[in-house]
Amino acid sequence: MEDINVKSEQFNEEKLAFLASIIESSDDAIIGKTLDGTILSWNMGAQKIYGYSANEVTGHSISILVPPGYPDDISQILKRIRQGQRIEHYETVRMRKDGKKIDISLTISPIKDSTGRIIGASTIARDITERKRAEEALRRAYDDLEMRVQERTSELSRTNEALRRERDKAQKYLDVAGVMVVIIGADQKVVLVNRKCCEILRYNEHEIIGKNWFETFLPERVRYEVEVVFTKLMAGEIEPVEFFENPVLTRSGKERMIAWHNTVLRDEAGNITSILSSGEDITERKRAEEERERWTAELARSNAELEQFAYVASHDLQEPLRMISGFTKLLERRYKGRLDRSADEFIAYIVDGAARMQRMIEDLLAYSRVGTRGKPFEPTNFEDIFDQAVANLMITIEENKAQVTHDPLPTVMADDSQVAQLLQNLISNGIKFRREEPPRVHVSARRKGNEWFFSVQDNGIGIAPEFFGSLFQLFQREHAANKYPGTGIGLAICRRIVERHGGRIWAESEVGKGSKFYFTIPVKK
Ligand code: ADP
Repeated sequence: MEDINVKSEQFNEEKLAFLASIIESSDDAIIGKTLDGTILSWNMGAQKIYGYSANEVTGHSISILVPPGYPDDISQILKRIRQGQRIEHYETVRMRKDGKKIDISLTISPIKDSTGRIIGASTIARDITERKRAEEALRRAYDDLEMRVQERTSELSRTNEALRRERDKAQKYLDVAGVMVVIIGADQKVVLVNRKCCEILRYNEHEIIGKNWFETFLPERVRYEVEVVFTKLMAGEIEPVEFFENPVLTRSGKERMIAWHNTVLRDEAGNITSILSSGEDITERKRAEEERERWTAELARSNAELEQFAYVASHDLQEPLRMISGFTKLLERRYKGRLDRSADEFIAYIVDGAARMQRMIEDLLAYSRVGTRGKPFEPTNFEDIFDQAVANLMITIEENKAQVTHDPLPTVMADDSQVAQLLQNLISNGIKFRREEPPRVHVSARRKGNEWFFSVQDNGIGIAPEFFGSLFQLFQREHAANKYPGTGIGLAICRRIVERHGGRIWAESEVGKGSKFYFTIPVKK
């Protein structure tokens, strides 16, 4: 029994020593104190953390560890201990012997005697200054980061805002442009369009952006061909200088013809990123061109027909006509005065009619020759032409006591014989359609842009407004041939000559005052 007791006492002592050495060697402070806070035990850990040795603090109040100015939380803690509570990981500030404040984490438990009465408290304290500092540093770093993120975010949104404003501005400029603008990325998708583009395609902007341009907006038959050009442009293989035309498909599936001009867009490194195309809707212009071509062809056909007719008329009709006038003249010579008076009159009519018909045929031939016998254009001095026309009209001018004058006249590219005929016809009309007073005819010329405007003005009878529409048509006359002789071909010839020279002809007139005929000839042809 003794032995066993001794053994167990021995064992207990060993166990206590072992516990004591654990306590001593712990890095944590392990402190025993009474319920009023008097320090009973103080291990090496406590010495290390607080700087006091066990001797210095044993018997003193634990309150010496509370820094001045800090709330004394010890009575509060002890109150809870007395109630049997355990306080775990309570973080607070304490002061070391050297006055330095430290952050510590406290776990405080009641100590009970064998009857279970609470007789004191054990405190395990851990210096968490480093951890706190790290935490603080972390928090500060985090705050700093957050602040910077916020700064960055607002900077970014400001930049975005500025970019958006610039984009809006650019878009506005693009939108007022009369041409359609579309930017296509390397993936063939539409990056940007302007309002005109939306109008022509009849889609909203968001329905176009992001779509494959070729697949969505080009008719299938031209898709491949245009894609090839696009690919070459993107690869920098061709210079985007030339215009090219291709149709686009609108929402309703209709096509519109667009004349495109392309530009490549590059990034800072100089790589081609997209193609900017501006396009003009030329559908109507194309249509008008086709229409004009059709009419030109039609005109050429009817001119050719007319020429053919004029040729036939002049050539084939001349022969029977010559026979008629020949035999009538014979009739006149042989039987004049031998038949009755009416017969003489009838013969005179036939002679006259045949002669008129001959003149008409000759004029018609002259008309047909404007197209068929024209000469190439050469520099032609209109003052010489004027002199020539006046020389040809010498007799008429003298008979009518007419005054024919001119301003300085230019040299133009023309068929000299034809423009001489033109001027002669206009001047002779000016003299022929005269009033009582002596006729005055004046020729002048003025340059406007790429054209010379010529005018031939007279002081004659003028032209009735209702006759204006048929003024330049074949055989159209306002007055009877016995009053003012003529066939009504002169102005038709004038028009053909002017048109052959690429110009226009028209007239202004006031009845009883005079007329002014205008024609234009291009400066270079
Ligand atoms: P013509 O002189 O042989 O009648 P034109 O073709 O030269 O044929 O003229 C057609 C018609 O236009 C004339 O008959 C006349 O009625 C009118 N006309 C032409 N020139 C003038 C003019 N200077 N003043 C008034 N009428 C004119």
